[in-house]
Amino acid sequence: MVSFEIGCNFIFILKKSFTLKYFKSLCLVVFLGVFQSVSARSANRLLVISFDGFRWDYIHKANNLTSFHRMINDGGWAIHGIKNTFLTKTLPNHFTIATGLYEESHGVVGNVMYDPAFKETFHGWLDKDARDSKWWDNGGEPIWVTNQRQDTQHRSGVLAWPGGLAIVKGILAYKTESAFDGLTMKERAKKMIKWFKDDYPINLGLYYENEPDETGHAFGPDSKEVLSKIYQLDNLLGDILYDLEDNKLLETTNIIVTSDHGMTPTPVKNDTLKINLDDYISLNSYNITSKNPVAGIFPASKELEDEIFQNLSRIPHAHVYRKKDIPPEYHYTNNRRIPAIILEPEEHYWISYNGSAGVNGEHGYNNSLTSMHPFFIAMGPDFKPGAKVDTFDNVDIYPLMCKLLQLKPAPNNGSLEIVSKLLVNRDSSGSSTFGVYILILLLIGLVGGIFGVAVCQAHREHRRRRLAVSSFSLPHSFRYSKSDRMPLMTNSSDDDFNDES
Ligand SMILES: [Zn+2]
Repeated sequence: MVSFEIGCNFIFILKKSFTLKYFKSLCLVVFLGVFQSVSARSANRLLVISFDGFRWDYIHKANNLTSFHRMINDGGWAIHGIKNTFLTKTLPNHFTIATGLYEESHGVVGNVMYDPAFKETFHGWLDKDARDSKWWDNGGEPIWVTNQRQDTQHRSGVLAWPGGLAIVKGILAYKTESAFDGLTMKERAKKMIKWFKDDYPINLGLYYENEPDETGHAFGPDSKEVLSKIYQLDNLLGDILYDLEDNKLLETTNIIVTSDHGMTPTPVKNDTLKINLDDYISLNSYNITSKNPVAGIFPASKELEDEIFQNLSRIPHAHVYRKKDIPPEYHYTNNRRIPAIILEPEEHYWISYNGSAGVNGEHGYNNSLTSMHPFFIAMGPDFKPGAKVDTFDNVDIYPLMCKLLQLKPAPNNGSLEIVSKLLVNRDSSGSSTFGVYILILLLIGLVGGIFGVAVCQAHREHRRRRLAVSSFSLPHSFRYSKSDRMPLMTNSSDDDFNDES
């Protein structure tokens, strides 16, 4: 009882300086804290840029690249680039980045491919096939679809990115643009940024440029022409960063800049690198879907398959596989669009048939060759400044994008194991849960405190009333003898009472 009295006195003193108004404010602050902790942080917008054929080491070829190095310093970087998927061609790898699936799973197994069920050949750069869902909607889910499926407030913009013109799973990106829009690089970049600041802005943008691939094919990866393109793209990236900054979007935008594949020299003047198919198999015994540099061969009849296979096996500097024997690490078997036989030249060797000519740079070779690997840099509020990893697989980009956009990934072949090392550690679900517990305890403590004050107040009021009643009932003489004073010569009992209080 004594301790209760002391406690009450303590709380009473507290109460004097800590009015109910302050308690209300504190409760509000604590409530908001709890609410903020348990409710989700809204996702930052995401811009993904692909510079076609940008090999992982091009960044080291040029001096004084400002924008690429700004991103590397302020964000994350895969030092040795990323490993792409087989075939190391443009359309299959862009669709792999978008879906997180190997090519046999997303079904875009070449820039050109034959589908035996449709009995039709796909030419991915033709507008009609770029828009035709039957080539793209094979079970894989591109990030722009995942983005719009899971939140009605989300809008995706796909500018020239392969697959972005087709409806997949019943969804078309909110904004789309063909790769052949007739715009310059700068105009295209401006358009992309504009989509982010429209009245109904996109929260995800995918943006594709066809350089330095085109120049790499024409002049080879070590040419001064490719070097000049790298500077041009550095400037373009600088414009994009400036434009985002100017529109106050930069601080809340994550930016990934990557590519689909690298490039290796295939100098056409060097005759020893040319594999002439006509020297091994006759033109009318097969159909060919692709030959740059891996040849996809459909024998004209089942009976010819063994003969064709045996003849192709004699070619030096090349590996030939029947579909069922393609090594499992290629992830390039389980799809009807994969040809019955593939002929895979060693690096730098290239295939000619029916007199077809070569180019000075090529990609499409085995994806374990480092020359085939593209680069990866990223920057933004969710990337750790200066974070570096050695390398990772391009199938990991899809789950990374989902993580950045706070989306549940569709089934995919990727993993967050390595890429998450590039991210600011906001997850720490353990510590945030701990924080919520602490805040809840504080709230309970405050409510308890208010209750305690109320009880003490009631107790003091009760005691005050009890004492008042007692003072009225005590004999007059006792009252004054206790104070050891002379009785006051007054009849005012109120004054007497006041002395006691
Ligand atoms: Zn490409």
